[in-house]
Amino acid sequence: MTTNTRREFIRKSALLAVASPMVLATTSERSFAQLPTKSLDETSAQAVALGYVHDATKADTTKFPKRKGPEGEKQFCNNCVLLLQSGVKLEGKEGEWGKCAIFIDGLVNSKGWCNSWAPKA
Ligand code: SF4
Repeated sequence: MTTNTRREFIRKSALLAVASPMVLATTSERSFAQLPTKSLDETSAQAVALGYVHDATKADTTKFPKRKGPEGEKQFCNNCVLLLQSGVKLEGKEGEWGKCAIFIDGLVNSKGWCNSWAPKA
């Protein structure tokens, strides 16, 4: 196993270890039929803690440097492994919204971002 492959394996394992309980909690407590009908509140404690914004270009890159630079600027909810469902339209809101494994109380924007972003395989 090369260093890069090993590093990728460790990174994905850590991500799964963090995300799996959240996904299980989400799916066991709320089925997908109970998809939130509102957008996530960007000012909620969890959203603020993870730097979530509906418009990824407005991410605070001083506080969350992960989204800084050319590679960081490619990060959006719509290419994050934690986006479970996408393509939802919300009345009165522009863009597409989706269900994130982390945020259970509202939908995230497909062009949004938070510090838990991880690439789809
Ligand atoms: S974990 Fe991924 S899908 Fe969820 S809000 Fe963060 S970037 Fe978006």
